[in-house]
Amino acid sequence: MPDLISIEEARRRVLAEVRPLAAEEVPLDRALGRVLAAEIVSTVDVPPFDASAMDGFAVADTSGGELRLAGESRAGHPSRVRVEKGTAVAISTGAAIPEGSAAVVPVERTTLSDGSVRVEAVRKDANIRRAGEDVLKGARVMRPGTELDPAAIGVLAGVGVRAPRCARRPRVALAATGDELVDPGSELGPGRIWSSNPLALAGQTAWAGAEVVHTQTVRDDPGATRAALGRALSDADVVCVSGGVSVGEHDHVKGALEELGVKERFWGVALQPGKPTWFGVAERPVGSLAERAEGAVLVFGLPGNPVSAMVTFHLFARPALRALQGADPLPRTASAVLDEPMRRNPRRDQAVRCSLTAEDDGWHARSTGPQGSHVMTSMLGADALAIVPRGEGDLAAGERVRIEFLDRRV
Ligand code: AMP
Ligand code: MG
Repeated sequence: MPDLISIEEARRRVLAEVRPLAAEEVPLDRALGRVLAAEIVSTVDVPPFDASAMDGFAVADTSGGELRLAGESRAGHPSRVRVEKGTAVAISTGAAIPEGSAAVVPVERTTLSDGSVRVEAVRKDANIRRAGEDVLKGARVMRPGTELDPAAIGVLAGVGVRAPRCARRPRVALAATGDELVDPGSELGPGRIWSSNPLALAGQTAWAGAEVVHTQTVRDDPGATRAALGRALSDADVVCVSGGVSVGEHDHVKGALEELGVKERFWGVALQPGKPTWFGVAERPVGSLAERAEGAVLVFGLPGNPVSAMVTFHLFARPALRALQGADPLPRTASAVLDEPMRRNPRRDQAVRCSLTAEDDGWHARSTGPQGSHVMTSMLGADALAIVPRGEGDLAAGERVRIEFLDRRV
């Protein structure tokens, strides 16, 4: 393995290869989690008209008194009556304010009798929402790169957008290598294990806004590996293959990728877990699904150990998938106080899976337990990766480390 590069350098090399994908119109009811490709400028004022904030009575004079009831303005049914001095118009929340109104008196501050209403005095403009108070016509509402969360979807609907232009979702082909792998739940022969990487990586892919086009399980055989990776390259924008990237006699991924013309950009990161991570790029194969797409096919060779695969996906593949969509590629970071000492690795930075608590002095981090790269359960409930810099000795409890938040929805 050549000299190991840092996490930052590896990310830099990944992001240098990304060309944003083309945009498409996405109906709003299917746009949750998508990334906006164009600026949204409102074509309307929101609210579009002066509206009542309360159920009550619109009045022309704010000083109160006994008023004649001149009509009603309901939500969706504006009144054509003008409010004059000495009169009131009954009004419901969200209904258009009749001409001549100075304020709305809430129903709780009124007494209705036959054909007239007694109202208390109110401030001028009380309980009137002005047109454009939320969004002004012509205002920039959202920038390209915005991830459409439920609030963003609601705001887009409120300004009348039906199908915003969003980046195409990156297509990801997954492959898991290993003679030992069988499908989860199927019979376990001697020396076999249930393959967990494709499903965990598919989950991370979905949470990065991308879609899995197919998943292959590949035997430790050069021809089979080449065939599977060839298929992956022709169907996807990003290929993630797990296992088989180390230096063992039965590791065929690098050889196969080389034969397929994939150009190595790095192999080996000063990271624990995840040292043998490989990354390269390939021209789009002629006749492939994505032949006319921009940029190269990005190929990640992730280590086979389940924790290593998930951690390296998070650190390197996720930023690529986000950048392809024009979203901010890197995860949120913060600093956290360690609630327990952490042993440093002399040569590699460690990505320690942590649970976090919010204390008066900010985030506090504690490891999720034993951190072996095969200890899949160390990812369970992990809020963040604490990046423990390489060096001698321990980081003491009470010291601060940089944390990178993991994607969590629960
Ligand atoms: P490798 O990177 O191929 O040397 O694999 C390293 C370790 O990860 C071995 O113990 C493999 O059995 C395990 N491993 C590889 N692929 C998977 C997978 N898809 N699911 C679970 N464990 C795996
Ligand atoms: Mg293997």
